[in-house]
Amino acid sequence: MPLFSKEETPVKVEVHGKPLQCRICDHDTFYKRRSQLNTQLATFFNVDWANRSAVCYVCAKCSHIDWFLGEK
Ligand SMILES: [Zn+2]
Repeated sequence: MPLFSKEETPVKVEVHGKPLQCRICDHDTFYKRRSQLNTQLATFFNVDWANRSAVCYVCAKCSHIDWFLGEK
């Protein structure tokens, strides 16, 4: 599965009421991805938080990824 589909439009994102800005290139639109963090990884590190789902925003310009840990 490709990371991006060409039809997808990057969106502006707000985190805690502030517009998210790429820390690398200062761009302000992102592709949103939601993923389940790897359970094997969680087992390996023996940490509970790694079993939560995470949201990542991929900068539309430079592809830098910002991760946010979601709710359980
Ligand atoms: Zn960027």
